[in-house]
Amino acid sequence: MAHHRLLIVVALALLSGSVFAASPAAVPPAAMPAGQAAAFDALYRRLDNTEIFTLDPAQVQQRLADLERLLPRNDNARLLHYQSMRCSWGFNDARQQLAYADDGLRRAQAVADADAQIRFLYCRGAAREQAATSVAALQDYDAAIALARRQENNHLLADGLVARGSVQSLLGEQGHAILDFLAAQGLYEREGLKDDAESNLFNLAVAYRRLGDLDKAMEYLKQSEAFAESINDHYGLSATLMQEAYWYENQGRSTEALDMYQRALAVAQKQPSPDDIAAAHLGMAFPYIQQRRFARALQMLDRAQAEFKAVGDVSNDDMIDLRRGQALAGLDRQAQALARFNRAEAGIERSGNLRYMAKLYQARAATQQALGHADAAIADLQRYIDTTETIDRTNRSQQAEVLRFQFDSARRDLENRRLLAEKSMQEHQVAALLEARRWQWTALLLGGLLLALLGSLVVRQIARTRRLHILASTDALTGVANRRHVERFGSEAIVRARDTGQPLTVVTFDIDHFKRVNDARGHLAGDQVLARLASACQDALRQFDLLGRLGGEEFMVVLPNTRLEQALPIAERLRMAVSSLNLSDIGGELAITISVGMAELKPEDADLKALLHRADRALYRAKAQGRDCIEMHA
Ligand code: GH3
Ligand code: MG
Ligand code: MG
Repeated sequence: MAHHRLLIVVALALLSGSVFAASPAAVPPAAMPAGQAAAFDALYRRLDNTEIFTLDPAQVQQRLADLERLLPRNDNARLLHYQSMRCSWGFNDARQQLAYADDGLRRAQAVADADAQIRFLYCRGAAREQAATSVAALQDYDAAIALARRQENNHLLADGLVARGSVQSLLGEQGHAILDFLAAQGLYEREGLKDDAESNLFNLAVAYRRLGDLDKAMEYLKQSEAFAESINDHYGLSATLMQEAYWYENQGRSTEALDMYQRALAVAQKQPSPDDIAAAHLGMAFPYIQQRRFARALQMLDRAQAEFKAVGDVSNDDMIDLRRGQALAGLDRQAQALARFNRAEAGIERSGNLRYMAKLYQARAATQQALGHADAAIADLQRYIDTTETIDRTNRSQQAEVLRFQFDSARRDLENRRLLAEKSMQEHQVAALLEARRWQWTALLLGGLLLALLGSLVVRQIARTRRLHILASTDALTGVANRRHVERFGSEAIVRARDTGQPLTVVTFDIDHFKRVNDARGHLAGDQVLARLASACQDALRQFDLLGRLGGEEFMVVLPNTRLEQALPIAERLRMAVSSLNLSDIGGELAITISVGMAELKPEDADLKALLHRADRALYRAKAQGRDCIEMHA
């Protein structure tokens, strides 16, 4: 009874994959009408996507016929794809389907059409599940999965994982099954195949139920049921309802199990779907047995057997025998029951389905005991115990495997989230840093501007101060140092000379008979003469000597680091410079002379005033000597 579900699962998975979406449509041969190829592709894609889910078997046949009519002639690629679709959907008889798949697979291999090979392998696997054994189907699924992996076709790969997982689940390998289903789920989600992902919930539900994780199983079943209803998928819905029925059956809740089987039957009859009707009838047998309604159970089994036979499905014969044996045993027809059990034994053992084996041994042990075959009963009980232990052990290790997988996924998930958080935090920091840097630059820029402004202000202030200083220390008429400045300079020079022990001489001079210049030429001419004289004297001095105007027409020169005798030639240069001044531009025949007094700093000089006083006395002597000459104070 489980086999027909697999057919549906595989067929759904297969048909939801898209041949021409995955591989670009072949360029039609030149002789073919391009429109026909395009129409074929369009119908194929439509069927392939969702439409075929909702069709009843007659409609499916109709669409396949439409598709065949649209086939361009001599278009081998499209022919193969059409046939791979027909292989999965067009057959009621598993043996015919198997032969068709074999043939298609050979031709797909001959032209190295990987997509078609994969699809024919899936089809053959599904056929083998019904006509042969589930284990045989695994070979096809493994080969198809490997090929899909090489082709990097995620959609077909996921479909293969679903098909293989379903077989593994049936054989009791729930851990491997769940891993396949979860891997497929990841691929479907990655490829954006929402419908496939939702259909796969059903498979996960079945595996979890068989693994004993009933809560998880029912959770997935409810989701799956809602999804099947939402897309009007009757096959998916009846398969889900059947699973819900098994779920209740496993819990010993026979009334609810029967209700579910009834719902599944109603859906299957509405389609109608002979496979699903048969499966529902077979399913009902066990809850009736649980309720000790054995005659009713046998009735259901008769119906199921006839219905399966009509569609060429022999895969449930062993299960029917087992159930019939249980019903007969319930009616205390033990010998008949034993015969049924014995007939079921070989097939069930060959199928490798441990759960069915355990059921068989347990039931047969009771019958053997009732028949008085104590040894046989004990042997069956031993087999039953061994088998259930194997199941428990397998389930435990599978559960551990699933838990480990879930743990790994959760850890990966957490790790990913941690990395994401870290990344966003880093981005945040970088942004903040950039912002801060922007502000730093702004601050630097503003600071720089401020500094430049301050700098220019300072420079201007310095220049102004210097100008003020120069103004304050310069005699406006002559441009040489004024009295205050030259006196300060002289005082500081005295301090330095005393500190270093260097000599210092001051020279002072006064214009002779200047009153006459003013009187004869006017005060303005006198001023001009003063300016010309100062300039000429300035030129006659050395770099470190300082000339200053003391007032009126009296001047002083400070000569640092200069002895009296060294100062004499300088004083002479001054006298000569003045007396040789050409002042004809100011007034014809105009000429002036100066009288000069000199004194060298002596230890007894209290200050500049004392030194200057001695120089003045020499100057006075020079005047007295007749002017235009130099006198030194000893
Ligand atoms: P001497 O010094 O040779 O004895 O004769 P002097 O004519 O120079 O006499 P004294 O030094 O006493 O007179 C100074 C004159 O200089 C008085 C004043 O008219 C003139 N004088 C003083 N300061 C200025 C000035 O700034 N401009 C002009 N044009 N004349 C001035
Ligand atoms: Mg004078
Ligand atoms: Mg004078």
